[in-house]
Amino acid sequence: NLPYADGDFYAFEELLSDKERARLEEIRAWLAREVRPHAVDWWNQGVFPQELIPKIAELDPMSPVHRQGYSNLFAGICHAEFTRADASIATFLGVHDGLFTGSIEALASKEQQEEWLPDIYAMKKIGAFGLTEPLGGSDVAGGTRTTARRDGDSWILNGAKRWIGNATFSDWVVIYARDVEDNQVKGFMVDTSTPGFTSTKIENKIALRTVENADIVLEDVVISDDFHLKGANSFRDTNKVLKVTRLAVAWQAVGQQLAAFDVARKYAVEREQFGRPIASFQLVQQQLVQILGNTMSSMGMMVRLSQLEDAGKAKDEQSALAKAFTTARMRESVAAGRNVLGGNGIVADYGMAKIFSDAEAIYSYEGTQEINTLVAGRSITGIAAFV
Ligand code: FAD
Repeated sequence: NLPYADGDFYAFEELLSDKERARLEEIRAWLAREVRPHAVDWWNQGVFPQELIPKIAELDPMSPVHRQGYSNLFAGICHAEFTRADASIATFLGVHDGLFTGSIEALASKEQQEEWLPDIYAMKKIGAFGLTEPLGGSDVAGGTRTTARRDGDSWILNGAKRWIGNATFSDWVVIYARDVEDNQVKGFMVDTSTPGFTSTKIENKIALRTVENADIVLEDVVISDDFHLKGANSFRDTNKVLKVTRLAVAWQAVGQQLAAFDVARKYAVEREQFGRPIASFQLVQQQLVQILGNTMSSMGMMVRLSQLEDAGKAKDEQSALAKAFTTARMRESVAAGRNVLGGNGIVADYGMAKIFSDAEAIYSYEGTQEINTLVAGRSITGIAAFV
């Protein structure tokens, strides 16, 4: 019954409308019922729970801003809340809704959207986002080697993609490939049953184990021009999608810290050593307060950035600094949280080991710490350090 046990130390949720707060409670109750009790088992097994997809569809969290009229602030807090319950399930949704559906909402023609989006929103079709390559990670803009060759009314795709979330079972993947004619990176909707398309699960990950990431090979994959995303004609277009999803990943770093706060605070008040709860020791309280301070400073930055996004004013460099800052605080917070649990902090069953490990993936994807730092650095110096 402690006033701050929910982690909302500065009452940020009061900034939401009544309707949004009610919806957030609905989502929290769903996560408590459908995700939290199973999250550690799923993570240990390292297999995505297909049975969850119709249940997520019933909850209907897809495209809260474009389709459901909620604020970006609400969408961000929801994303943090999904992550707080389980970072893998939040990432599954971040790929299907954010990266994949976001590509279609931002870059497909009106006709393409009308044809594809209903099944995607209903989660009858699951999607993935194929940008990163084995040889093109941070330098994906210059390093995209997958090619697209126009052949009459068709395109022929050849190349390889790495790390593609959901692509072991998804129906569609948006593939970004370089047009051999004009050298620009373009986007294509690829049905995963097309001949020449293969995906292989990346095994033995130590983070986000419930998310299935794939290596993809494209060998003379022929698709109709109807599946070229009409607004995806250069890397600048791809970046429109990444600007928004980077903001969502920075919110994930908030959620991951809230998760560390939840587990560490509860453990510290219950665990006794020297005849008293470990929470009674000053050095343990200091670590809990460090997690709280990190989380609240991250959240304050994210609340303002989402408000700017709602006003249509958020800039790429603001998303980049937010991703770099919140994920750096996240790494400190999950390390402190793991420490508060002592030896039990490295056993998956106590929850914290999963939170600690998953943070490493969030730290690296959607632009690493270094790349996001350099995007922010470019904006304040006028000098690009990475081109
Ligand atoms: P590299 O680019 O090889 O970087 C290695 C190191 O070098 C990093 O520390 C990096 O910061 C540093 N570095 C590189 N260049 C510079 C520089 N100029 N200055 C300073 N330091 C530098 N991609 C997709 O397309 N779709 C997905 O669904 C997807 N999901 C993912 C899920 C997970 C779990 C992971 C781990 C990755 C996922 N990715 C996905 C890929 C992800 O975006 C890349 O891993 C990320 O962009 C980094 O690329 P890289 O791993 O090739 O690292």
